[in-house]
Amino acid sequence: MSKPTVAIFDFACCEGCQLQIVNLEEELLDLISVVQPVEWREAMSDKADGDFDIAIVEGSITRPEDEDRVREIRKRCKILIALGACATFGGVNKLKNKFTMDDVRKCVYGDAADMPHLSTAPTKSVCEVVQVDYRVEGCPIDAGEFTYIVRCLAMGTDPVIPSYPVCVECKLRENVCRFEYGELCLGPVTRAGCNACCPSAGAWCFGCRGFVDDPNVNAAKDVLEKYGLTIEDLNSRMELFNYGQEPAENVKNG
Ligand code: SF4
Ligand code: SF4
Ligand code: SF4
Repeated sequence: MSKPTVAIFDFACCEGCQLQIVNLEEELLDLISVVQPVEWREAMSDKADGDFDIAIVEGSITRPEDEDRVREIRKRCKILIALGACATFGGVNKLKNKFTMDDVRKCVYGDAADMPHLSTAPTKSVCEVVQVDYRVEGCPIDAGEFTYIVRCLAMGTDPVIPSYPVCVECKLRENVCRFEYGELCLGPVTRAGCNACCPSAGAWCFGCRGFVDDPNVNAAKDVLEKYGLTIEDLNSRMELFNYGQEPAENVKNG
């Protein structure tokens, strides 16, 4: 049986999620035994000739021409995976949308801001432009979760992505809660899957995997109230990765 072909593409981002894949080292060789890379700018010089089975797309869509390019990629693949927060919901790139595009251009290009080829547009995630079949959350992604998802797809099975908050994994690791240290942690409203790596390393969760489905607003409020904090405090911290995300409204109005 032939292996599914995979092409990896990047848009506006730091490419840190692809770096997580490159850093898999020996495990990467195992992955290549189940899928066939046909294009991956960061690791090979070949270009895909025609269509491929799986497209993995990293980064945000920040220019009109990028929308056309990601639509073309969508047409050429059977399965499209959005890789990392920039692609799945915009991540830190969405902070750009707090400003006018004129101000953004002037900030980046100064006196050259009016040059016609310097097009820019409000940031969109890949999920906002094309249909996405699977999402690998995180900034950066968790390499273990990435290999799990690719292996599932190579075997024709559906990966199971956590629909519960980071607190579940954190409690399983028996961490002392960051709130006990007087810190505001976003674990109660953030999707798990990273094995609570930040609280386990002594830092609060800053929401890089986006809002969990149907966040338990009342539980989050109870925790915040207990420590003298408010939903506004939580939303303000959530803004770094989740600016403009709808679930923030759910938290506010819950
Ligand atoms: S999600 Fe984070 S690590 Fe990944 S490409 Fe975007 S900014 Fe970089
Ligand atoms: S709030 Fe943060 S530190 Fe506390 S249990 Fe949840 S994830 Fe862990
Ligand atoms: S603990 Fe929070 S900030 Fe850290 S990797 Fe997990 S989701 Fe991201």
